[in-house]
Amino acid sequence: MEKVVSLCKRRGFVFQGSEIYGGLAGVFDFGPNGVELLNNLKRAWWKSNVYDKESHYGIDSGMFKHPKVWDASGHTSGFSDPLAECRECNTRIRVDKELGKVGVVADEKMSEEDINKLFDENRDKIVCPKCGQKNFTPARAFNLLVKSNLGDFTGDGSDPVYLPGEACQGIYLDYKNILDSMSPKLPFGIVQIGKAFRNEISPRNFLFRTRELEQADTQLFVKPNQNKEAYEQLKQDRMNWYISIGIKPENLRFKQHDNLVFYASDAWDIEYNFPSLGFDELEGIHDRTDYDLTQHMKYSGVDLRYTDSETGEKYVPWILETSVGMGRMFLAVIADAYYEEEMGDGIRTVLKLHPSLAPYRAAVSPLLKNKPELVAKARGVFSLLKKEFGNIAWDDNGNIGKRYRRQDEIGTPACIVIDFETLGEEKSELKDTVTVRNRDTGAQERVAIGDLVGYLANK
Ligand code: ATP
Repeated sequence: MEKVVSLCKRRGFVFQGSEIYGGLAGVFDFGPNGVELLNNLKRAWWKSNVYDKESHYGIDSGMFKHPKVWDASGHTSGFSDPLAECRECNTRIRVDKELGKVGVVADEKMSEEDINKLFDENRDKIVCPKCGQKNFTPARAFNLLVKSNLGDFTGDGSDPVYLPGEACQGIYLDYKNILDSMSPKLPFGIVQIGKAFRNEISPRNFLFRTRELEQADTQLFVKPNQNKEAYEQLKQDRMNWYISIGIKPENLRFKQHDNLVFYASDAWDIEYNFPSLGFDELEGIHDRTDYDLTQHMKYSGVDLRYTDSETGEKYVPWILETSVGMGRMFLAVIADAYYEEEMGDGIRTVLKLHPSLAPYRAAVSPLLKNKPELVAKARGVFSLLKKEFGNIAWDDNGNIGKRYRRQDEIGTPACIVIDFETLGEEKSELKDTVTVRNRDTGAQERVAIGDLVGYLANK
């Protein structure tokens, strides 16, 4: 994990939030290369969840929501994690996660009483990650919702408007608008990538657990009790998608939840083998029954039933959900692509990202930056490729070996070098050809400038 974090900082992928002020725990910024990878991931996810599907509708809902939304969803009363504090050094721990580390099945949905019973039975095994002592307070439920003072002009804090604890509530709120404006037939999906905020007790492990996060959600609305087949299909689709973007299958697995929330009919995670953490949740796939819409119907007083156009019957659809944090996805993708391997006379670090995800399609370099004729020719190639692909890097910093190493660390699939042969100064038959160096093998090919666009598009 340390190596991944260091590469992310060194190469402009991810920075600690508010770093010059000492940082703000659980908040990260994506740098120039990170935002390209993140946007490519979002585009790939959106394509698979909207464009490649039938009757899947994308939305982008407002972040702030009516305070009652979080009562209806159960977040104001039940969105909590069990927190205990070390009496020696005041470090806070999440008791369910610490129990999990010593092989005791526990989760945040358990009652305070049940989790404390398990905690008491296993106190000798749980040590403070900071001071190593075992002297903790009992666990208490700590609500993770983050409050705002939006519209609170009296300052009394009653009826706070919360930041979203999960992005999917925006989908449930717009479900009726989608019915009225798009007239979809069941089954149909509503899809969103939206921000969420959680007062995580111990944000840690880089992008794995942050306080500000972005969730990519698909909510599939199906006929009541017609969920099983669609649920299985959803699970397989999501697993196949991770493999299609280049994640190694051996680093992915399914895990069924040990404890279900009372309304859920089934719940599985896709786990990824994260560096330092091992297998842990990457994405949740949940069969939520009719809970969400029934709750919002109750709290809003608005009829959210779907009218079956064939039978005229009215019912509340069931919801199958897939939800993944973009930060966790980003971490899994970078970790999976990270290699240290021998090349030439040393060890190189390389990100073998899927070419469609890499921040740049290619980098263009003049062999020497103090030769105006080489620079002019390289600029011409750079403009040509930029016009076609957009994300092309210009790299003339340091010698060519250093540029290759740098582009390897960014994951750029091809480096294009304009040299004296391109100018036709050495062998006339090589005039207007360039060297293209392959990121994964280091192999170099000579390609005519006129063929470059087709060559890169094929790759
Ligand atoms: P965990 O048990 O790890 O706290 P969760 O079960 O609360 O996660 P969900 O509420 O189901 O997670 O959220 C769906 C997805 O959002 C998760 O699978 C994960 O990818 C992502 N996610 C949740 N919490 C965080 C967080 N604090 N930081 C980054 N990603 C998160």
